[in-house]
Formats: sequence, C-alpha cells, structure tokens
Amino acid sequence: METARSGAVLNPAPPVPRVAADRCSGCGRCVSACLLRLVTLEPQGYRKAARIVSAERCTGCGACVASCPIGALVAGSVPTGC
Ligand code: SF4
Ligand code: SF4
Repeated sequence: METARSGAVLNPAPPVPRVAADRCSGCGRCVSACLLRLVTLEPQGYRKAARIVSAERCTGCGACVASCPIGALVAGSVPTGC
C-alpha cells in the first residue's frame, strides 16, 4: 500500500463486499444492482449463491450490499478478492 511522507494512505483499494453464501437465497437482486456486472450467481450445493468476480474492479460503491434484503452481502473493510 502506497503512503505519503505524512503517513496518509494514497489510493487505498476500495473495500470489496463479502458474500455470506450460506445465507444467500440466490434472489439475484445484487446481480442487477451492480452496474459493473461484477456479481454473478453460481452453484452452491443444490442452489445458487451470489459471488463477486473481478473483485479488483469493484469500486466499493455498496449498491450490491444495499440491494440485499437479508444481509447476505456485507460491506468489506479490506480487499478480499472474494
Ligand atoms: S460494491 Fe459496487 S462495484 Fe463492488 S460488486 Fe458491489 S455493486 Fe459492484
Ligand atoms: S441480494 Fe442477497 S440474497 Fe439475493 S442473491 Fe444477492 S446476496 Fe444473495
């Protein structure tokens, strides 16, 4: 991570939300919410669950988190590449 002499963080990577796949109902709202098309539904056992792909492109806007009615997407505090 790049820092200035003052110690301030420059260009920090935005936090990538995490998917609690065990809670996800597979409703797809977060898929529609991401304008960058970074959220997909993928097989999770006998059902589907959300997954964030190309996490390096995520702006951390939080639209997917806000769209989830059951809190299965959690705003991240650090980049996870989930
Ligand atoms: S935080 Fe924003 S850019 Fe990142 S996956 Fe969610 S909707 Fe897409
Ligand atoms: S909005 Fe929530 S429950 Fe629906 S697919 Fe996305 S993470 Fe799963």
